[in-house]
Amino acid sequence: MRSTADVVIVGGGAVGTSIAFHLTQLGLTDVLLLERGELSAGATGRSGALIRTHYANAPEARLAAAALPWFEEWADRVGGECGFVRTGFVQLVMPGDADRLHANVVMLTGLGIDTSVLDATELAALESGLAVADADLGAYEPRSGYADPVATTRTLAAAAVRGGAQIQQQTTVLRLLGAGDRVTGVETTAGRVQADTVILANGSWSVPLTESLGLDLPIESVGAQVAFVSRPDGLSGRGGHLTMIDRRTGIYARPNGRSETLVGLSQSARTIASPDDAEVLDSFPGTALHQLALSMPAFAAQKVLRAHAGPLDVTPDRCALIGRIEGCDGLVLAVGMSGSGFKKAPAIGACVAELVVEGKARTASIDEFALSRFAEGRPIVSNDYLLGSSMGGSGPVLVH
Ligand SMILES: Cc1cc2nc3c(=O)[nH]c(=O)nc-3n(C[C@H](O)[C@H](O)[C@H](O)COP(=O)(O)OP(=O)(O)OC[C@H]3O[C@@H](n4cnc5c(N)ncnc54)[C@H](O)[C@@H]3O)c2cc1C
Repeated sequence: MRSTADVVIVGGGAVGTSIAFHLTQLGLTDVLLLERGELSAGATGRSGALIRTHYANAPEARLAAAALPWFEEWADRVGGECGFVRTGFVQLVMPGDADRLHANVVMLTGLGIDTSVLDATELAALESGLAVADADLGAYEPRSGYADPVATTRTLAAAAVRGGAQIQQQTTVLRLLGAGDRVTGVETTAGRVQADTVILANGSWSVPLTESLGLDLPIESVGAQVAFVSRPDGLSGRGGHLTMIDRRTGIYARPNGRSETLVGLSQSARTIASPDDAEVLDSFPGTALHQLALSMPAFAAQKVLRAHAGPLDVTPDRCALIGRIEGCDGLVLAVGMSGSGFKKAPAIGACVAELVVEGKARTASIDEFALSRFAEGRPIVSNDYLLGSSMGGSGPVLVH
């Protein structure tokens, strides 16, 4: 293996490959991406891959909005297919959250996002399979949908390699090199690489790597599960049915190709000792199908075909850690995606590449995502929604 690189990226998921691609787009080609297994081996390969711009805080909405045109124009901008399907997306909330929904839609439209609040009649007209009561409301965005996370990552990696980057799989970064206030490279299972900049894009696995620097990254490993369900006839939405997050029932769902639907539970996540824990709990498939049928009753007679689990890297405010670290030159973070990093990956990659090459992100602001926000007592505050009583009505809600 080579012994130097301008930039080493640790992790070959959607975020790491996006950073590699964007670095080459900015003319920095001496880039080495190291992946301990295969591309998409972590959260990315297990992702629900919902793509939406509805967020309850502006910093994340800006990143999601900046990423959406990439998915829409993938073939021209990156090359190949990312599997983007524009189904439209709806965020459904409890009737008691009407004011919050309206406030968030005002915030989002202020950022230039195409979204509006629909009432029960409008929602039923949009998706005939949706269970709606008179007082129900949803925020609709026509441009959103879902993509194929593995194809997204593969095409980003291919474009990065075409641009001059090198991607080395089956190579684990064992520790960061350097001392005190400067990281100077990495030690790997295939030898040492000296680098001006090391970018961590390896989710929860970043935590042990930064311990030697005296850094305690505030990231908790959480297991998330999704089930694939056979899809009934009679749903009216584009591409199968609307992609949705439904706080009334605690689900998120989207079509998966021609005959399946992917469903996850916002609250099924559990703390795991290791991000390598990919256990699907016995109770999960049945609960997911039951809650999905509360949102779309035609699913009541359907079957769960399979399910899988993957790790989330969750921070205290459930927003990512992106940027340089004060007092630790040569290290850049792109971790802590908190269950919501796939849809933002094209924009996060652009921002991190701009930071490294030009000194500052210009695609969107990443200042709010600095690790220092926690020590400084200014976490990102979300105007987030309650969960319906059928899912407990309280407790942490993980976004997707
Ligand atoms: C079940 C589930 C559903 C989700 N649903 C959505 C959704 O609907 N929408 C959305 O936007 N997001 C969703 N997410 C979250 C999203 O998938 C992640 O935030 C995103 O994929 C993270 O990408 P990443 O590149 O940061 O991390 P990862 O994909 O985890 O990549 C990190 C990589 O680093 C590698 N690695 C680790 N340690 C080392 C090391 N020491 N040396 C070398 N390589 C290393 C790993 O093997 C891994 O491939 C979901 C996640 C899960 C698990």
